[in-house]
Amino acid sequence: RTVYVNGAYLPENEATISIFDRGFLMADGVYEVTSVLDGKLIDFEGHARRLSRSLNELDMANPISKDDLLEVHRELVRINEIEEGLVYLQVTRGSDGDRDFAFPAEDTPPTIVLFTQNKPGLADSPAARKGAKIISIEDIRWGRRDIKTVQLLYPSMGKMMAKKAGCDDAWMVEDGFVTEGTSNNAYIVKGNKIITRALSNDILHGITRAAVLRFAKEAQMEVEERNFTIDEAKEADEAFTTSASAFVMPVVEIDGTALGDGTPGRVAPRLREIYLDEMRKAAV
Ligand code: PLP
Repeated sequence: RTVYVNGAYLPENEATISIFDRGFLMADGVYEVTSVLDGKLIDFEGHARRLSRSLNELDMANPISKDDLLEVHRELVRINEIEEGLVYLQVTRGSDGDRDFAFPAEDTPPTIVLFTQNKPGLADSPAARKGAKIISIEDIRWGRRDIKTVQLLYPSMGKMMAKKAGCDDAWMVEDGFVTEGTSNNAYIVKGNKIITRALSNDILHGITRAAVLRFAKEAQMEVEERNFTIDEAKEADEAFTTSASAFVMPVVEIDGTALGDGTPGRVAPRLREIYLDEMRKAAV
């Protein structure tokens, strides 16, 4: 694989960053994940916009213009011959050559790294045809989940807890209400109504979420942005998640309780199809 580090395209085993990098020492960094279909980027604009917001919220400088960022994404997709896959981007506060809690001087250049993952079959996914089994876990993350930071230890642990339970993923619950999945936004469906938590600092403002809710409204589905409990979810007709890396993923089981007949329902597969069709058309 060829990767991108601070302005250079390099083989992955030749790319290096400082051991004092604050991304490594303090998880002082943000990231984005953009999917690739037909060799093109899905919703690049949305991801670039959220990156700027995340950096801004953390008083970090944006090391790259949007046009240059698009160029780097495209170049990596081209060099690595990605037809279907993902582009990961990480920006950290860099380092001034030592460890300190205080931020380094303002002119310290941020570290920027991009790499690709080749994922043939990302769109036509057997996992999406089957649907995901999830468990619920307590949400013990920090209070600024709207910023896409690289502090991914708890979501990582959540995935491991799910795996151990023979499931695919976990939904996190705070004060009795579902916040989101370990790496996706969470939805339930009742009749023709899609219910998902409203945007706040409690959840990541999913780029896929924004597009899917727009398509749902255009398809005359009702969207209700409000809190829901895990018990309400277990009694729903359907449930699903959205993310840039898995698009729309039906959920067929929650904490051992099957939803409906335990297969992906009507709404989630339809939204997945609409999302993929529309986003392919708009891909860059
Ligand atoms: N929520 C969390 C915690 C995530 O990590 C992610 C994606 O990584 C999402 C939601 C979905 O966001 P997006 O649709 O922008 O990928």
